[in-house]
Amino acid sequence: MNVASANEKIITTPYSRLLGRRSTSPRAAVSGVTRAPGATIPYQELLLPWGRIAPCSHLPPRVKPVFVKGVQGIGGVICIYCLRHLAPTDFTREHVIPEAFGGFEGNLTLLDLVCAQCNQHFGDTIDRVMARGSPVSVARIERGVQPPEKAAGVVRDRVRFAWDAEDETHRGMILTLAAEEGQLCVVPIPQVGFAKKSGRGLVYVSGDTLLDAEAPLPEEANPQGKVFLVTDSPATKAKLMEALRARKIPFHDEGAEVGLPIASGGMIPVEVRAAVDSLVVRCAAKIAFNYAAYILGREFILDDSFSTCRNFIRHETLPSYRIVEIDDHPILADDLRYRRQTNGHLITVAWAADGRSVTGQVSLFNEVRYRVSLARNYPGVWREIRSGHLFDIESRRVDELTPSSLARPGGVVPVTM
Ligand SMILES: [Zn+2]
Repeated sequence: MNVASANEKIITTPYSRLLGRRSTSPRAAVSGVTRAPGATIPYQELLLPWGRIAPCSHLPPRVKPVFVKGVQGIGGVICIYCLRHLAPTDFTREHVIPEAFGGFEGNLTLLDLVCAQCNQHFGDTIDRVMARGSPVSVARIERGVQPPEKAAGVVRDRVRFAWDAEDETHRGMILTLAAEEGQLCVVPIPQVGFAKKSGRGLVYVSGDTLLDAEAPLPEEANPQGKVFLVTDSPATKAKLMEALRARKIPFHDEGAEVGLPIASGGMIPVEVRAAVDSLVVRCAAKIAFNYAAYILGREFILDDSFSTCRNFIRHETLPSYRIVEIDDHPILADDLRYRRQTNGHLITVAWAADGRSVTGQVSLFNEVRYRVSLARNYPGVWREIRSGHLFDIESRRVDELTPSSLARPGGVVPVTM
């Protein structure tokens, strides 16, 4: 994991090799020292390192939708996030899994537990970022929760695609997600490759960055070395050359104009990197918290031992201890790290090993796992807690997991926060 900034970390998603196929109608493109046509590379399939999906064998018959309702006491109903006492009319229905991750028959829903204001706040902030700028943004389209046309909505600064080419010249070329003829694909953006100071390979800088006079070039770039333009029109080429001149970078428009080395009908490996920051982690924590509220009920979740997690989700108050850990450890007992039985969402809640702390696990599309410390040292009476649900993407069913299908939450390699 590379640290991008103090608060934002970049992780390479488990599905780091996205394969694309060259379009039958490559876009006209031109020029530079080396011409690189902006060939469109339609997406073909996401090659998950853990292979194909097989049916999950640990699922009981489907459960009926159940609503968990808040209890109205003196002074109104308490919101489980802001803890305000409000009138029942101030509450809205909160889905355990945000609707951006699929509509499910019998979706688990909280009634009179999350106030309209908290609900709106989450929808406008953490839910939105999780959908459009997180490690699951591509899976959301790839799994058909959103149509390929929504590819444009994936936030470019937060989910980055680069050509994982074998040759040093093209490795690292910046790609963007697009849709062509109803297919997800990757497309090179206008950019300039600078020779690296190390003398090996190129470091690519987007046209937008180059045009921004305030934006520095990457440290490893050698502006005195060879440059390699990737353009899609004479106008773009002229713009990039002007930007090079403005930065006093020597540039001679010479050399052969060649296409990108993409074999006919070929596919290219793509490295996908997605931002994981406080917004993403809080959204995962909220899903785990919602689920715990659904399973354990309002009184349990209102206990003060849950307030550290509650405040982290609602107010971004960071506790002194690691509240969320991220890894690719499977949640299902029979899943292997690279071989998964389902691509549905999984959520669990259980006691931690100490028997006094409550831990939730969330894995959207059964990819990255977020392990959330929901409560520490719960002071109340012990009762059995070990629940999990699978939200199946294809059948749109929500099924309860049997205890035997749940892996013990131990053995994690902590990665972040
Ligand atoms: Zn509230």
